[in-house]
Amino acid sequence: MQISITNLKGESATLRIKKELPVDYGDRGLTEEKLVSPLKLDVTVTNTEEGYSVQGSVQTKVELECTRCLIPFVYDLSAEFSDEYLPKLNRAETEDDRFFSEQAPYFQGDQLDITELINESLILAIPMKLICSTDCTGLCSHCGQNLNQNSCQCIVDTVDPRLAALTDLLKKE
Ligand SMILES: [Zn+2]
Ligand SMILES: [Zn+2]
Repeated sequence: MQISITNLKGESATLRIKKELPVDYGDRGLTEEKLVSPLKLDVTVTNTEEGYSVQGSVQTKVELECTRCLIPFVYDLSAEFSDEYLPKLNRAETEDDRFFSEQAPYFQGDQLDITELINESLILAIPMKLICSTDCTGLCSHCGQNLNQNSCQCIVDTVDPRLAALTDLLKKE
């Protein structure tokens, strides 16, 4: 995703872009996750004189695997991002430049490439533990049956071991 900054001359010049991007919007898409709907993008670019500040939000749908039942499901993913793009200097890099280049994105010419910024925000917005629904019963730990679809014949021993000991004791009496 490239943004042209040719019309953003002068401090505080602002540009707002609302756009829908196709699922395969960049060759560096979400490598592991499968996007299943276009990306709704709303981004504002402001000329800060030192560079260009980019702020925006993105919404899409992604296919993810439930961590309880392991069945893929569609998750509504939305993320916000912001960063400041600085001009790439036309001189030999110094140590300081290298340090800062790891902190801030650079641009050259009259285009900002925000593909990476979008990708990073989406990846960070995916929760670590995802379940397909709050009442997902998951898989049986004995036979692996998906308990959302069918029950199984396993007898799960839910008796508290302390109670079991008491029961044994009472039996002996
Ligand atoms: Zn599930
Ligand atoms: Zn079972």
